[in-house]
Amino acid sequence: MDAIAVLNPYTGEEIGRVPRGTARDVERAVQAAREGARQMRALPQHRRVAILAAAAQRLTAEAEPLAHLLTAETGKTIREARAEVARAATILQLASEEARHLHGETIPFDALPATEGRKGFYVREPVGIVGAITPWNVPLALVAHKVGPALGAGNAVILKPAEQTPLIALQLARILRECGLPEQALHVVTGYGEEAGDALVTHPDVPFLTFTGSREVGMQLPARAGYKRITLELGGNSPVIITPSADLEQAAEGIVRGGFAVAGQLCISVQRVLVQESVVDALIRELLPRVRALRVGDPRDEHTDMGTLIHRHACDRVERDVQEAMAAGAILLTGGQRLGPTLYAPTVLQNVPRQARIAVEEAFAPVVLLMPYTTLEDAIALANATAYGLNAGIFTRDLEEALTAAQEIVAGTVCVNDVPTFRSDLMPYGGRKQSGLGREGVRFAMEEMTELKVVSFRL
Ligand code: NAD
Repeated sequence: MDAIAVLNPYTGEEIGRVPRGTARDVERAVQAAREGARQMRALPQHRRVAILAAAAQRLTAEAEPLAHLLTAETGKTIREARAEVARAATILQLASEEARHLHGETIPFDALPATEGRKGFYVREPVGIVGAITPWNVPLALVAHKVGPALGAGNAVILKPAEQTPLIALQLARILRECGLPEQALHVVTGYGEEAGDALVTHPDVPFLTFTGSREVGMQLPARAGYKRITLELGGNSPVIITPSADLEQAAEGIVRGGFAVAGQLCISVQRVLVQESVVDALIRELLPRVRALRVGDPRDEHTDMGTLIHRHACDRVERDVQEAMAAGAILLTGGQRLGPTLYAPTVLQNVPRQARIAVEEAFAPVVLLMPYTTLEDAIALANATAYGLNAGIFTRDLEEALTAAQEIVAGTVCVNDVPTFRSDLMPYGGRKQSGLGREGVRFAMEEMTELKVVSFRL
C-alpha cells in the first residue's frame, strides 16, 4: 500500500508514515462501522459517559508526549500544543457530561383537539455512522469536537484526518480504545482528501457528514455528498472593530493574541482590524511594540511565541499576498519578511485597499490589516464585506454601539470587548454565509448527530 510521509514543518524531517487510504479502505471501514453503530447504540448511556470521561483523563495524563507530537506535526509552539491537548480533554469531558443529559421530552398531544386521547414522547436516536473530515491546524481539539459528540450520542465514527496531521488523530483513537470504546466504533482512514475524503463524502451508507476545512473544498461537498445530513465548518476573515471609546491597550493585546496564535492559521484569527480614523495612530502605538516583541522560531523552544506555517507553499502565498497589497498602496508597518522556509514574520499592514485579495479572502497567515473607517455604519458594512461570516468583534464602551454591531454583523459569534478569536467549547459555534452550515459546540454537535423519533400511544 502507498504511504504518506508526515513531515515536521519546522525541520522538514519525516516524523512518520501512514497508509494512503483509498475508496476500498473507506468501504471496509463502513462495513465494520455498521457493526460498530449497532454496538454503540446498544451500549448503555452510562458506559459512553464513562469511556469519554476516562479518555479525557488519559489525554491529561499523556499531555506532554501528545503536545510534543502536535508541535512536530503542525509547527505550532509547544505552549500552544499543550493548550490544545488540555482543550481536547475538556471537550471529551464535556461530551461525557452532555451524553448523560441527552434525552427527549414528552409531547402534550391533548393540547390539540385533533390529537387528544394520546400520550407520547420523543427520543434522540443516534444517526448511525458519522463521517468526519478534519483540517491540520487544530488537529486534536477539532477531532475531539467531532468524535466526542458523535460517540457520546451513540454513533460509530469514520474519521479522515488531514494528511498533514494524521498521527495525533491516531493517538486519540488509541486512547479511546484503551478506555473501553468498542473496536468497531471508531475507524481512522488516513489519506488524501480527493481519495479517502471523497469516498467518505460520497458513501451512501454514511448518513451524516461533519467537515471542517477550507471554503473551497467545503462548498463542493453538499453536491458530492448527495442525500445526507451535513455540517460544514469553513474558513473566515474575521473583523474586529475598534471604536474611539475602546480600551486600546486591551484591544492591542487581543489583536496580538488573536492575530498571531498558530501563526495566524486559525479560522477565527484576527485578520481585519477596522479602526476609527481618530484612534488609528493611538492603536498603532499600542500594537506595534507588542507585535515586534513576539519571538518567532523553533516551535519546540519554550520561549517561542510564534511557530511556522504548515508548508512552504503557505509561506509563498502570504509573501505574494502581502506584496500584492503593498503594490496596491498598503503600508507595511512591521514584518513582511520570510524568516525561513516556513517562517514568516508577524506582519501588520495599514490602509490595505478594500478590494485587495488579502482583505477579502482568508489570509491564514500571520498578517493583520488595519483598515480605517469613519462611521460605525461604515465599519459594519466593511465587516460584512466578505463572503465569510464566522466570528467578529468590537471594542467599545458604548452599549448602543455594541448592540448595533451585535445585531448588524452577519456572523456566528459577535464578541464585545474581545477579539473574534474567542471561542468556548460549550457554546454553539459555526459560521454564516460561506463560513459554514450547522453548529458545533459539544451539545449542539450532539444534537445534530441524532435523529428525533416520536413514539405515540393511542389510549
Ligand atoms: P482543506 O479543506 O484543504 O482540508 C480539510 C480536510 O478536507 C482535510 O482532511 C483534507 O484531506 C480534506 N479534503 C480535501 N479535499 C477534499 C475533497 N475533495 N473531499 C473530501 N475531503 C477533502 O483545509 P485545511 O487546509 O486542512 O484547513 C484549513 C482550512 O480549514 C482553513 O480554511 C480554515 O479556516 C478552516 N478551518 C475552519 C474551522 C472552523 O471551525 N470553521 C476550524 C479550523 C480550520
